[in-house]
Amino acid sequence: MSLHGQYDPDNIFAKILRGEIPCVKVYEDEHVLSFMDIYPQAPGHTLVVPREPVRNALEMTDGALQAAIVRVKRIAKAVNTALKPDGIVITQFNGAPAGQTIFHVHFHIIPRMDGEALGRHGGGEADMDVLKEQAARIAAAIENP
Ligand code: AMP
Repeated sequence: MSLHGQYDPDNIFAKILRGEIPCVKVYEDEHVLSFMDIYPQAPGHTLVVPREPVRNALEMTDGALQAAIVRVKRIAKAVNTALKPDGIVITQFNGAPAGQTIFHVHFHIIPRMDGEALGRHGGGEADMDVLKEQAARIAAAIENP
């Protein structure tokens, strides 16, 4: 889907936000839901999904985007505390040609280790027990604003 299309309320992340599909939750509040990516590009790959029902960042209201990016920072700091990576990539894709595959706006927080190549986007499914353990460690490291 290019940047020019309609929001589909039955996309996977909309279903996760409504609780119709499970996720390995890291954090939630009135603005965002954060959970582990089940096809991680690196161990600890975490998603932050704004609740606002739009396809991409260009469509977000300023207030929702501001609230979301502050939470992305807070959760990235918790990833840093919990997993001690050498670096952290934060990405957000707008439109299929840009790499977006799920058309509800979201941010990726991807820990990077020195010398370890980034996995394929949408590669193999992770072990759920490992994801739950990572999510618990990240959640425990989230600082209050
Ligand atoms: P994007 O390509 O930016 O749209 O990213 C979508 C991300 O969602 C990819 O990294 C997928 O691995 C991830 N993903 C797809 N389905 C699920 C799911 N059910 N739960 C968690 N992450 C998912």
